Amino acid sequence: MNTRRIFLKSISGLAAASAVGVPIEGLAQAAKAPAAKLSETDPQAVALGYVDDTSRADQKKFPKHAASQQCSGCQLFQGQPTDAMAPCTIFAGKQVAAKGWCSAWVKKA
Ligand code: SF4
Repeated sequence: MNTRRIFLKSISGLAAASAVGVPIEGLAQAAKAPAAKLSETDPQAVALGYVDDTSRADQKKFPKHAASQQCSGCQLFQGQPTDAMAPCTIFAGKQVAAKGWCSAWVKKA
């Protein structure tokens, strides 16, 4: 194999590695990035009456709501009690506010 052929093979190998490496880096960064905050206007959030602050829950629509009910005290809250935000089993890929509430609230066991 002559020097020119070896050089060209090296270059094409680097290009292929680079092409493969970029998406993998992107996936790794996406996996590390925290989930986006759940918006109160998200259709699923609206359907369940989600609010960032339990004091703003629609008491007429959800008469069983109590001011003491917050996401941080919900069985479906995936964070620690001290976390300001954390994922919720109901809203996959999103974070909910620890002081938030929705009608799927279940008292933490
Ligand atoms: S299911 Fe629980 S943790 Fe999730 S948004 Fe509703 S109240 Fe908050």
